[in-house]
Amino acid sequence: MIDVHDIERCVGCGACVDACPHGALAMVSDTEGFLRPQVNTSLCVGCGLCETVCQIGRFGSGQPAAASSSETAPGEPAGAMYGAVALEQNVTARSSSGGVFYLLASEVIRHGGVVYGAAYGDPAAEAAPDSLEVRHIRIDNISALAALQGSKYIQSRTAGIFTQVRDDLAAGRRVLFSGTPCQVAALKLFLGDAWPGLLTVDFICHGVPSPGLWREYLAFVKKETGRDVFWVTLRDKRKVTDRFHSCLKLTDRKPPYRSTEIYDRAIANLWIKVFLSNMAMRPSCHNCAFASLQRVSDITLADFWGGEKTHKALFDLGRGVSLVMCGTPRGEEAIKSILPQTVWEKAAEEDIRQPRLHSPAAASPRRDAFWADKARYGFGRKLAGKYLDYGFWQIIRRRLRAAFGAGRKKAVNV
Ligand SMILES: Cc1cc2nc3c(=O)[nH]c(=O)nc-3n(C[C@H](O)[C@H](O)[C@H](O)COP(=O)(O)OP(=O)(O)OC[C@H]3O[C@@H](n4cnc5c(N)ncnc54)[C@H](O)[C@@H]3O)c2cc1C
Ligand code: SF4
Ligand code: SF4
Ligand code: SF4
Repeated sequence: MIDVHDIERCVGCGACVDACPHGALAMVSDTEGFLRPQVNTSLCVGCGLCETVCQIGRFGSGQPAAASSSETAPGEPAGAMYGAVALEQNVTARSSSGGVFYLLASEVIRHGGVVYGAAYGDPAAEAAPDSLEVRHIRIDNISALAALQGSKYIQSRTAGIFTQVRDDLAAGRRVLFSGTPCQVAALKLFLGDAWPGLLTVDFICHGVPSPGLWREYLAFVKKETGRDVFWVTLRDKRKVTDRFHSCLKLTDRKPPYRSTEIYDRAIANLWIKVFLSNMAMRPSCHNCAFASLQRVSDITLADFWGGEKTHKALFDLGRGVSLVMCGTPRGEEAIKSILPQTVWEKAAEEDIRQPRLHSPAAASPRRDAFWADKARYGFGRKLAGKYLDYGFWQIIRRRLRAAFGAGRKKAVNV
């Protein structure tokens, strides 16, 4: 049975749940709102299968992250690197950086494959109340790919997904699996064998905040504005394409169901403050084994921080630039197939400024105090005021807007 006492190192990948043939494991929310496996001892037969897929103790912090069970595992530093921007403006507008993920995904689907990635809810499901929960979904048509585009700064729910990937591969489908490096490592351990039809894509990962706290944040926005959040993007490039903006769309809970947008520099958004504060990150992220130049996936994507001077022509396009790191020959081949759909330049290690290629993010010294106060007060003005710079003037601005500007597009900093 997996070592549930070593829970601080559990990345929450959910592979153990998928691996258990007896249904003895389930992912449940802990006190910080992170999902962790719980064993039903009356169903567990002690077969140990869950341990064979668990990454706890397999990769040391800062150690090479190669997943030993895959033929595509890179034991070497990353291969070719590029800066790239998708030619089509529609693609970059919905993507966090240069839209390379979308190009790779549409290529796989065009060849009869399927794509797995993180979305706000499942557009195919009717579960409206939790439709902004972040979870991994399966997509097999290009028109639905938009749901996967863009960064969701919340840990995504994956339980059940690894089994679906295995079924698709066994049926002979090509599969692109995209996720955090620890989710890719989990998939490789779960699959065991190397699958020639599998292409894995991760990103340089700062860490993932709590999904339970995300739910409380959304409830706080509802309370503050009197409206329901029905759409969100934390990397909005529709108006200002090369900077970091966020947008929430809200609607009245009662007729006449007016809708409005909260649009602002991302740094003013309360959830982005949560993300950047390092107070609500999953504990395992501060000991991440994948904060390394040696990658676990065929391809690693990121924002091309550091390339502003060396790759000025790409940045001058003003649409966001993807950093692309090829980890394996398979990744390199996939990237070469989509480069003609981009403006691209070769990149080198010294061009990149990415702290998470060298070490995990340190936890905030205020992390424990944050969670102690969160348990006391819940997620609200008091907590946000004390830890997230949610000030008096922001509240006044929001009140004025509620009184005089309902329906207009103005910033309220929630
Ligand atoms: C939690 C998180 C932390 C990140 N940290 C960094 C960082 O430190 N440095 C950096 O340069 N870039 C970071 N990124 C990645 C960056 O924001 C872009 O996603 C990346 O540059 C790819 O951009 P793109 O335009 O090619 O594709 P996009 O369309 O923006 O990428 C979408 C892909 O990201 C995946 N994805 C989105 N949210 C999640 C999630 N919550 N869990 C798993 N997969 C998800 C989707 O499945 C999809 O495949 C982070 C992203 C996330 C989600
Ligand atoms: S030991 Fe076997 S039965 Fe028990 S939780 Fe693990 S996989 Fe399930
Ligand atoms: S398999 Fe993943 S979710 Fe399960 S205990 Fe290991 S790290 Fe945690
Ligand atoms: S920081 Fe590391 S442990 Fe945390 S989600 Fe990213 S890859 Fe996983």
